[in-house]
Amino acid sequence: MSDTDAVEGAEADEADGLRTPIVAVLGHVDHGKTTLLDTIRGSAVSEGEAGAITQHIGATAVPLETVSEMAGDLVDPTDFDLPGLLFIDTPGHHSFTTLRSRGGALADIAVVVVDVNDGFQPQTIEALEILQRTGTPFVVAANKIDTTPGWNPNDGAPIQATYEQQSEGARGRLDENLYEIIGDLSDEGFSADLYWRVQNFTKNVGVVPLSAITSEGVPDLLAVLMGLSQRYMKEQMAIDVTGPGAGTVLEVKDERGFGATVDVVLYDGSIRADDEIVVGGVDGPIVTEVRALLQPRPNAEIRVEKRFDKVDEVRAAAGIKVAAPELDDAMAGAPIRVIRDRDRADVIEEVEAELAEIQVSTEEEGVVVKADTLGSLEAMANALREVEIPILRAEVGDIAPRDVAVASTANETKHKAILGFNVDVLSNAEDELDESDVTLFADDVIYQLVEEYEEFVDELERAQQ
Ligand code: GDP
Repeated sequence: MSDTDAVEGAEADEADGLRTPIVAVLGHVDHGKTTLLDTIRGSAVSEGEAGAITQHIGATAVPLETVSEMAGDLVDPTDFDLPGLLFIDTPGHHSFTTLRSRGGALADIAVVVVDVNDGFQPQTIEALEILQRTGTPFVVAANKIDTTPGWNPNDGAPIQATYEQQSEGARGRLDENLYEIIGDLSDEGFSADLYWRVQNFTKNVGVVPLSAITSEGVPDLLAVLMGLSQRYMKEQMAIDVTGPGAGTVLEVKDERGFGATVDVVLYDGSIRADDEIVVGGVDGPIVTEVRALLQPRPNAEIRVEKRFDKVDEVRAAAGIKVAAPELDDAMAGAPIRVIRDRDRADVIEEVEAELAEIQVSTEEEGVVVKADTLGSLEAMANALREVEIPILRAEVGDIAPRDVAVASTANETKHKAILGFNVDVLSNAEDELDESDVTLFADDVIYQLVEEYEEFVDELERAQQ
């Protein structure tokens, strides 16, 4: 291997029987996802030796030893044969809830962050519905407990003891909020309780009261995640982290000097700098050759050409940027597969089959749907099907002039509409949109988007009567 510091996470994987679990952090905007991830990363850096955590593209790997140092007495490393935890750390990109891997969700487990004062909000419910549909086990981080009136903070401490030491008033106020969250979980069909009363975290949802600011309760969250991962990963098939890799595209991005690149979470096998790969694209599978595998350089100066280190190989689970020719039409949410010693036609067929599984069936008449990833497009299509709204065309990507043209061909006024989930309107489509009779609906919460469209249809129908 010519490059050096690439695969610390992977070395740990090799030593142990189970692959690093992929953890997604989800929740409503402003409930504290970014702060929680920063706190976990920050404590990992200060607790562990320098370099103990590895920053990946779109993900952070925290090795078992570091998890155990952060969690104190709550995690005994000898109890686990997991290499650590890989946190997907692009929380702004909340549609990764819908990202898939072969046969299921990309994330093995999830943390749903709920602000204790704010309770359940639309994106909380949306995250839970997707987790339920994909059968992804999760824990709830009941965040911002430090804002409870009368709360006596205990920075970085485990929560159970801290909770019991609070004044009756403060604990009562927190309890009120916590039980509201537990009740709301039950309304969504989950049997939940405070985590120290839960026996089996794959059956019941544990609620961990914590503060991403004071870090109290973060040790408990890590301990629960480790316990849940250990049980869950054991149930998964054994994974060969050196075989031809499989992953999911998080994002398609232009990088100066490399052209179109894909940010990928590799969940199986390995990818090497000289591999031939197949990537899901707008018009079907793209067969190409890796030009470079890129990892972010720690503390890099902001000089574009110096931001990445080239690496020779990464092994699951890991986040990696792949530079290769022909990636312009790659789709976020689509599969990526390494061919290596496999039959090329088989791999192409596999990618085709996976794309076909997600492609949305369309009708002669209906609305145009655009979404940021393949998974969110599928979630949109499901939501529309439930309320019997037909789809004329459904695609991944920003709203382009072509979409306006297609939408305006609808015969019924109510169908002259574009529903955009988490996408922008390309500047060259703005004028066309203004001049057309097409109505645009844009939102980053699926059910709100569907509701807005339904209200528009209702109003139209009322106006016609
Ligand atoms: P995100 O949109 O879910 O990623 O939320 P952020 O992490 O950006 O947090 C939103 C706001 O809540 C920020 O101003 C944070 O400083 C604040 N915040 C997050 N966690 C906590 C917490 O545990 N306690 C307090 N008091 N504020 C918090």
